[in-house]
Amino acid sequence: MIETETQRIPPPSRVVALEDQPFWDAIDAGNFVLAHCTCGAYYARMQACLHCKASPASLSWVAASGQGTVRTFVIFDKPYHPYFEGRVPYVVAVVTLREGPEILTNVIDADVSAVEIGMAVRIVIGDRGGQKIHQASARI
Ligand SMILES: [Zn+2]
Repeated sequence: MIETETQRIPPPSRVVALEDQPFWDAIDAGNFVLAHCTCGAYYARMQACLHCKASPASLSWVAASGQGTVRTFVIFDKPYHPYFEGRVPYVVAVVTLREGPEILTNVIDADVSAVEIGMAVRIVIGDRGGQKIHQASARI
């Protein structure tokens, strides 16, 4: 494949809120984790527990199953950033994780026309322009 100017453009940079830093540090280490409260609730970011009101500092980050289902999704058919030129169409989905939290991610390993609400997916750690990212694989 001939490298074009577009292919050398880096992907959009991550903007990480302080509450999300442990999640992304784990992604960078190749791990998919969730914040777990002693009451049994899980969160995809460090926050106070909505069930028992435990403080954010009392939650601990634990390995997550990576299992989930597509709650809703959109198909991007236009590149809204130059990095995605030639990389459309792709799916952006809200995935409900088995543990309960919902995350925004891409669905990969399936034709965009095959993605459906309710389909089972498995979170994998992928690479986007040298930056690690979580994605939902249709290969479960
Ligand atoms: Zn709790």
